[in-house]
Amino acid sequence: MSQPHSLKLIPSVDKLLSSAEFRNTIGIYGHTRTSQSIREYLAALRSKVLQNNAVPIPPSKDIATAITTSLEAIDSSSLQPVLNLTGTVLHTNLGRAALPASALTAIARTASGNTNLEFDLSEGKRGDRDDHVEKLLCELTGAEAITVVNNNAAAVLICLNTFAFGKEVCISRGELVEIGGSFRIPEVMEKSGCTLRELGATNRTHLKDYANAVNEHTGLLMKVHTSNYEIRGFTQEVSYEEVATLAKESGVPSLADLGSGTLVNLENYGLEHEPTVQEVLKAGTDVVTFSGDKLLGGPQSGIIAGRKALIEQIKNNPLKRALRVDKMTLAALAEVLKLYKHPEALTQELPTIRHLARQPDEIRRIAETVLPAFTKSAGGKATVSIIPSASQIGSGALPLDQLPSFSIQIKPVTERDTALQQLARAFRGMPVPVAGRLRDGALLFDIRTLDDCALLIDQLEHFAWP
Ligand SMILES: *Cc1c(COP(=O)(O)O)cnc(C)c1O
Repeated sequence: MSQPHSLKLIPSVDKLLSSAEFRNTIGIYGHTRTSQSIREYLAALRSKVLQNNAVPIPPSKDIATAITTSLEAIDSSSLQPVLNLTGTVLHTNLGRAALPASALTAIARTASGNTNLEFDLSEGKRGDRDDHVEKLLCELTGAEAITVVNNNAAAVLICLNTFAFGKEVCISRGELVEIGGSFRIPEVMEKSGCTLRELGATNRTHLKDYANAVNEHTGLLMKVHTSNYEIRGFTQEVSYEEVATLAKESGVPSLADLGSGTLVNLENYGLEHEPTVQEVLKAGTDVVTFSGDKLLGGPQSGIIAGRKALIEQIKNNPLKRALRVDKMTLAALAEVLKLYKHPEALTQELPTIRHLARQPDEIRRIAETVLPAFTKSAGGKATVSIIPSASQIGSGALPLDQLPSFSIQIKPVTERDTALQQLARAFRGMPVPVAGRLRDGALLFDIRTLDDCALLIDQLEHFAWP
């Protein structure tokens, strides 16, 4: 059988490699990768021609463009920065807390070479990675000792496993929390090897419920901060202090999962009071766990703070090795904690607190700076305005708290449902994707968390409105 005529027109790999069109591509991606891509491209072209002799053979220039574009796509990272204008300050799906500049510098400094991660430089012997944040955390929280793991879910898991493996854990029915995703207290208990001992009723639990439940099988008395919901009305909760005191009398440890775990009084920033780590430890709680990337505003991590002997047991649990944090996390965490030593500067230096503390007046001013760029970009296809809106903290913290804010509201002129979806998608397709939220037939961009106005304005100038 004779070969289709146009097969002969397909250029050879060598001819393409030595052509001027490929000089740039080879410069960027190297000879080996480029020739591999050319081979794959030509093989695909050949099989197309074998199926249909009429398939045109592109000129070398077009082949070079196609191959360079596909190499670019392979090399672009999937993980990329996003402008979070959703109105949720700590958005779990958008990576929660933005880190301060000092933390970024520390990450680069620590990650680019070797460090004394587990090395005591004065003694010249093995050290403990927790040492790099322990002193700061103990000073800030009043704890005797601390240890850091991968996230707060890991912190709860290892605490339960260390203190109550094969034993019962007493906890109020009102505190059997499910956090978004797949973290549920009853399931974590089971995986930690503990038996859940539910106390009281959903709305009311009394100290006598704890007292009656304690027996020789009890391993731990636990409280979980119901961070993402509130039980209102006829309610009764046993305080941290009462649980801690009973635990002491019963000879078992007390554990509190604070979830967000703030180190500062949020009332300073016009928010509702959240029990601070210091307060819960001061109430006598033996061990407290909280997230590093929620209200603390640091890197993803789980911090465990409490009595020295108990923290020592956690450090000796083989699970600690599996759940430990990386040097970059510790470097960033240490910098964030240093900022807490200078609390007056937090609203300037720490993005999470800066965003939470931002006053409506300031947010409105920022919205006014970017409004003209939105209006110009819309070019009459939508009405653009500044409207009052409400932000939320997110990540389960103070779920009922609405922070007064301002948003840019975009209402497409056309009434078609799809116009709004298309618009939202186009904003997500910007070089730095912009995430907003849909509400009442409009696209909203909450300005509370906007820091880089210049970037947004520049993107709007080059934006192809759908
Ligand atoms: C968020 C939260 C967790 C999980 O913390 P991660 O850091 O996301 O693992 C556990 N318990 C409570 C009460 C929480 O709010």
